[in-house]
Amino acid sequence: MSAHKILQRATDHAVAFLDGVDDRPIATSASLSELRASLSRELTIEGVPEAQVIDDLVRDAQGGLLGSGNGRFYGWVIGGTLPVALAADWLTSTWDQNAASNVTAPAEAVVEEVCADWIKDVLGLPSQSSFAFVTGCQMAHTTAFAAARHHLLRARNWDVEAKGLFGAPGLRILTSENRHESILRAVRLLGIGTDAVVFVANDAQGRMDPTALEAILRAAPEAATIISLQAGDLNSGVFDSFKDLCPIARAHQAWVHVDGAFGLWAGASARYRHLLEGVEQANSWATDGHKWLNLPFDSGFAFVAEPAAHRAAFSQETSYAVPLADLRNQKDWNPEWSRRGRGFAAYAALRCLGRQGLSDLVDRCCDFAVRLATGIGALEGAEVVSSPIINQGLVRFLSPDGDHDRRTDEVIARIQQLGTAWFGGVTWYGRRAMRISVCNWLTSEDDIERSIAAVQAALQEVTGS
Ligand SMILES: *Cc1c(COP(=O)(O)O)cnc(C)c1O
Repeated sequence: MSAHKILQRATDHAVAFLDGVDDRPIATSASLSELRASLSRELTIEGVPEAQVIDDLVRDAQGGLLGSGNGRFYGWVIGGTLPVALAADWLTSTWDQNAASNVTAPAEAVVEEVCADWIKDVLGLPSQSSFAFVTGCQMAHTTAFAAARHHLLRARNWDVEAKGLFGAPGLRILTSENRHESILRAVRLLGIGTDAVVFVANDAQGRMDPTALEAILRAAPEAATIISLQAGDLNSGVFDSFKDLCPIARAHQAWVHVDGAFGLWAGASARYRHLLEGVEQANSWATDGHKWLNLPFDSGFAFVAEPAAHRAAFSQETSYAVPLADLRNQKDWNPEWSRRGRGFAAYAALRCLGRQGLSDLVDRCCDFAVRLATGIGALEGAEVVSSPIINQGLVRFLSPDGDHDRRTDEVIARIQQLGTAWFGGVTWYGRRAMRISVCNWLTSEDDIERSIAAVQAALQEVTGS
């Protein structure tokens, strides 16, 4: 079979999948043991014809594909895929460039430069910042913290790239209880260790308290400190006050990092940009392409305001991958060596949306999140726990016997089973809640109405009313 035939076959399967996204139940239909039974096969000696491999894969995987691309999926913070980004991603796989270097992938190197400039501009980050196209926000944190580690330890005459952390001056991370777990894993991966994490108290809105931060910094003026702030908390969408916190950090020579996995994209909207006031004063920023920008998975971006520290943490000399003059060599800024060309899909999505399209996407998702929270909160036996500031919010369900946690989990499970809409649960300040996250370009007015109706139906079934 020629490449053409097998690719056409896969295209037909892919298009049929996309056409069916809106109609199929969102929840998966096969259990893990069923998936194991259909997918575990003997690895044969003679192999299997390619058409059969693809047809079998499509058939056997089907029940195990979560409908997270559906416009009525509001679990975690997942986002969908813009068709133009998917198309560019197909081409990325087809071109199969090794994005490690501008010699092996010159077009990708240039596209990354162009995209990074666009993203910095749209998000309001300093234009001279260096950048890396990584797998996701977790690796963007890791990249940024590696730069911070270099910067802070170099200022203490310690060459961390050569000596590692054994015997190094202490490093600490100040963050808040609301930080995402990926921050802690980045700290672990870099050998800093979670014992070095200090949680700073929050104010009543769940933002890092400037007075508490200043007291901790003042108590140990010599300590090498990374302060990890958040643009958009997973549950409430709250933003730390960058304009108050960054000057305090600067006065104590601390490095400020911003986790803006989805929330940094508020910078694309005139309505929400004020939430990011002062964010440009930070030293590094991490965000995702595969969430609110609606790129396919494997896409995050790190930006660093200290390019020299960033490069020192990652650059490597080789005799066989000598960069072209005047062009940034990607692997000198990235944690990986060989990797996918992540720039093409970002380039396609940003070009196609334009500034207005991006701003509309953000505004629309935020409006829908409010409508979902308000609509669900108005149902008998439901209440809003956290009203969306941007695209994230929380509701819960109330039981006459007072066990609202159990009731909330029962209603979530029933909604998932009914299959029209999908929400996940979370424990927030000790209480179970149902999280609302709207970040799919596909979500429509009709989806919101149908989703509220689906929640109402599940609630009625659970309460027997
Ligand atoms: C999703 C998320 C992360 C982790 O991002 P990945 O792309 O999954 O690595 C970090 N922080 C926040 C706030 C997130 O929502």
